[in-house]
Amino acid sequence: TSAPLQITPGPQVAPRGPERRCKTWKAEAALRMLLNNLDAEVAEDPGNLVVYGGTGKAARTWDDLRAIVRTLERLEADETLLVQSGRPVGVFKTTEFAPRVLIANSNLVGHWANWAHFRELEEAGKMMYGQMTAGSWIYIGTQGILQGTYETFAASAAKHFGGSLDGRLVVTAGLGGMGGAQPLAATMNGGTCIAADVDPARIQMRLDTRYCDELSHDLDAAIDRALEWKDAKVAKSIGVVCNAVDLLQRLIERGITPDVLTDQTSAHDPIGGYVPSGMSLEQALALRASDPAEYERRSYATMVRHCELMIELQAKGADTFDYGNNLRGHAKEAGLANAFDFEGFVPKYVRPLFCEGKGPFRWAALSGDPADIAVTDRIVKELFPEDKALLRWLDMAAERIQFQGLPARICWLGYGDRAKAGLAFNEAVRRGEISAPIVIGRDHLDCGSVASPNRETEAMKDGTDAVSDWPILNAMLNVASGAAWVSFHHGGGVGIGYSLHSGQVSVADGTDEAAQALERVLTNDPGTGVMRHVDAGYEIAENCARAKGMDLPLLES
Ligand code: NAD
Repeated sequence: TSAPLQITPGPQVAPRGPERRCKTWKAEAALRMLLNNLDAEVAEDPGNLVVYGGTGKAARTWDDLRAIVRTLERLEADETLLVQSGRPVGVFKTTEFAPRVLIANSNLVGHWANWAHFRELEEAGKMMYGQMTAGSWIYIGTQGILQGTYETFAASAAKHFGGSLDGRLVVTAGLGGMGGAQPLAATMNGGTCIAADVDPARIQMRLDTRYCDELSHDLDAAIDRALEWKDAKVAKSIGVVCNAVDLLQRLIERGITPDVLTDQTSAHDPIGGYVPSGMSLEQALALRASDPAEYERRSYATMVRHCELMIELQAKGADTFDYGNNLRGHAKEAGLANAFDFEGFVPKYVRPLFCEGKGPFRWAALSGDPADIAVTDRIVKELFPEDKALLRWLDMAAERIQFQGLPARICWLGYGDRAKAGLAFNEAVRRGEISAPIVIGRDHLDCGSVASPNRETEAMKDGTDAVSDWPILNAMLNVASGAAWVSFHHGGGVGIGYSLHSGQVSVADGTDEAAQALERVLTNDPGTGVMRHVDAGYEIAENCARAKGMDLPLLES
């Protein structure tokens, strides 16, 4: 019964502590995570409601944000709020076991699923770009992608460099909300990293949050510095203020071949995200506003050049992969026939994990107290003592990750293990070892929750890359299983027209009801990932399903 929250435009701060203002912890958790997405430490541009990933937003307008907050504050224990592209559109009587919020963001019928049509609707105030965890209120800052990036670089090291990136040069670009994880992921693997970003403010944010070590405005000086570190096997990173293509071009001119090469500029959005070369950031922003069509043309032309340079460096020996921003897809659209000459990171390094239901499981402490995350870290270590990579990750995370907003943790866990962790957290909340409920969710980039042919479902064994029945089944099953909120989005990661995906978030509030819901949701949700990969014919998934006794009618035992 606290006073209603007053929302004014600008960065937000989520309420903290063990007292709730909403009538249930499920609604309270949704409210806190929504506002946490817009915390100054978390969001890339909170003044415009933008969380990360180009223009990925948490709510459509400030009025919508206010209305969502007011509605969550009054929502009864047997009511469900419906949110359509960041706008609260209805409250319906459901049951106590149903989700408190159902969210659909940026969805368009296939024939109209393109940026041009989306932008018309967005300008008319009818839609919002939800990205993946922006519009579904479970973004936790750059940590959310850190472990995935760390594991991907580790997989590259294992395959090509004897297990470590010591004395190796990692080259990339894009130091935004997600891409900002790259320098730290590289140095955690022992490597040296140089990363280009056109926007010095973005690099500065990575320095402030300890994801990157140095910033330079001088391209050659930055390259020299990186080479010095590499030769001395110093695991440090430098962000250089320039366009990605200028960095790659200069490396080629100087005869330098990276050991690992990737990219996380916001290439999924040719107008709102990616920045063309040949002009300053200020000039680009002015052109974006005055002549979007010309901006788009230049953006596509730069993406073509960007891919060509990556292909050239791959030919010289760099371990090159696409990092999920659809750079190749857009370069191909713009006429580069061989844009897909380098592979995506999912078929190259992540799919075997998906086959076992592993994916970016995450949780946040609604108390706001970092000590609660320390308790969860300890619980996970005690549950899985045999998983050495996991233990190493948790030690490194505790030491090197600065929390952004509500303290949180990411941890790739598979089928069976997610439910174990969720139930153990719930017990710790019940016993008072954790001071307020824990919210448990995941990225939409997960094993069973996404259809995205240029990323998560690239090169599926049975050619079903574009089949989007799977994420819909995932969303429906999460609703039936009693998650706290469930979302279904279009266009995240790779842009409008290229992906469909769902998310779920659950709450461990220490009650028996929460334990039952957690067991169902955290088993079923990754279970759809195993199921999807069994259906596509992956043997690892079949073995996993058999070992875990899953009930898949057409799988012979
Ligand atoms: P963001 O919008 O926060 O940051 C993008 C950054 O790229 C900005 O700092 C921008 O200044 C910079 N940039 C744009 N064009 C550039 C250019 N030509 N040269 C140099 N810098 C340039 O986005 P984000 O959240 O960091 O996500 C980056 C991309 O990765 C997006 O396309 C996103 O959809 C995708 N993504 C990938 C994963 C994954 O797991 N691989 C996960 C989430 C998002």
